[in-house]
Amino acid sequence: ARPRVVVVGGGAGGASAARALIRAGTVEVTLVEPEPRYVAVFHSNLWLGGFITVDALTFGYEGLARAGVRIIPQAAAAIDRERREVRLADGDRIPYDRLVLSPGIDLEYDSVPGWSRAAETVMPHAWKGGRQLRILKDRLDQVPDGGLIVIVAPPNPFRCPPAPYERASMMAHRLKSTGRGDARIIIVDPKPKFSMQGLFQEGWEAHYPGMVEWMAPDISEGLVSVDPATGTVVTGFETYRDAALVNIIPAQKAGAIARTAGLADASGWCPVEPASMASLLDPAIFVIGDAAIAGDMPKSAFAAGSQAQVVARAVLAGLFHGAETPAAYASTCWSLIAADDAVKVSGLYRSVEGRIREMEGAVSRAAEPPALRRRQQQENADWYRGMVADMFG
Ligand code: FAD
Repeated sequence: ARPRVVVVGGGAGGASAARALIRAGTVEVTLVEPEPRYVAVFHSNLWLGGFITVDALTFGYEGLARAGVRIIPQAAAAIDRERREVRLADGDRIPYDRLVLSPGIDLEYDSVPGWSRAAETVMPHAWKGGRQLRILKDRLDQVPDGGLIVIVAPPNPFRCPPAPYERASMMAHRLKSTGRGDARIIIVDPKPKFSMQGLFQEGWEAHYPGMVEWMAPDISEGLVSVDPATGTVVTGFETYRDAALVNIIPAQKAGAIARTAGLADASGWCPVEPASMASLLDPAIFVIGDAAIAGDMPKSAFAAGSQAQVVARAVLAGLFHGAETPAAYASTCWSLIAADDAVKVSGLYRSVEGRIREMEGAVSRAAEPPALRRRQQQENADWYRGMVADMFG
């Protein structure tokens, strides 16, 4: 019989890994994923901005099934590492020779005083899951002209470093282009600086003067608490009342299944061998995507897809011939600030001295020519098309 590889989580990392593995034709591949459809949170900001429809974010697993991947439409409830079995929600057990885990993130609900899982329908995070994205989009559409939006940004490390700021940009674009240019967006941040900060602030000044305001911790003196019942956000500096929309992006950690399987360290994320993404705590398990501690790499879909290719090679090498190929990783995150104005940050990474290190990096510069910014948005759209094809066929 062919060796059995089980993949848990059919998102950016897991779906890409499942496809890369089945293409080899030498292993059985089973994908465990409870959601019938994947709604790509990457590029959801473009939906908020009104640049794409939700259909462009939504994918089924039929293509993977056609390629020969066995799809199990259930959540993995536990991992029995001793017996090398994934236990499903219904009690069934799926044996594996190698396991690839890409469960994404969990949210730290208690990292924001006053907020809770119960309050996520009133003050959405929209950092995972299609339902949350829809709530945020509906709420954005209801913000009146002159209304107030507060975005509570997360501490490091978190999924997609530029995304809270791209989200603010896309909200501003949507408000302005639908006659609500007097609305205001306040970002309350626990961090003293953020990804591509100068570029975002330059863009907000140029496209949305007076609409987007970033409150660094030395200004806001930190977030004190929120009250979902009244739409209140209390900071050390100011109390924002009657916000039309509060978007809470809390602190994050590896998806529960990775933590309960004992694959995370005290940080809440999963340490991995940098040349293969094998768990440092179990050599038969590989952790990829946001759940992994991937050195200098950001938590991005691009990074997760790149790690999936490395893992597919490492899994096959370990099962069949043992020869290691040198691991090379890449990530680029594009951010759309306004129509035809996209910036990007990219890096190439290798395993060096026990860590995934950035070998080469590049970031957009201030005041670039409009033609370059437009071309970068085209690159972003091309990348997305390629990424979802790598995932879903
Ligand atoms: P996910 O894609 O979240 O997939 C995890 C999957 O695991 C889910 O389908 C979930 O249902 C499943 N799962 C969880 N637990 C279990 C279980 N117990 N059993 C079975 N299945 C389980 N990245 C970019 O590269 N470019 C961008 O432009 C970009 N924009 C972003 C914008 C926003 C607003 C956000 C929030 C993120 C953005 N990202 C972007 C980041 C990107 O979405 C993530 O880095 C990427 O999705 C991580 O992939 P993953 O496989 O780790 O997790």
